Amino acid sequence: MKENTFQRAVSEDEARQGYVFVLKDALGFFPVVGRQFEIQQGESVRKIALEARSCQCRGPDKPHAHYFFRWNSLHRGDTVVVKRDPKKAHRYHLQIRSARAQREFCG
Ligand SMILES: [Zn+2]
Repeated sequence: MKENTFQRAVSEDEARQGYVFVLKDALGFFPVVGRQFEIQQGESVRKIALEARSCQCRGPDKPHAHYFFRWNSLHRGDTVVVKRDPKKAHRYHLQIRSARAQREFCG
């Protein structure tokens, strides 16, 4: 992953529940958990924050946290691309590359 870009392919679960996973090695890309930041998508700007949820998917003896931010209107296979705004602190730009549009385009 490039330092100035966060990129993730949306899973079915993320699309259905409206969130985007942020894996541990990408945590440093965003402000710390709970601190608000702005995400701009086209003309609209939203304030969000990273959230953490404790998880036992590796067994009850290996509790750990998963990190995510909430985002709706995603489809499985979409690619979420987030870039830092070079001029404004705590401002990020989000783009969604639609898997479906791409397929249509490639016909
Ligand atoms: Zn887990």
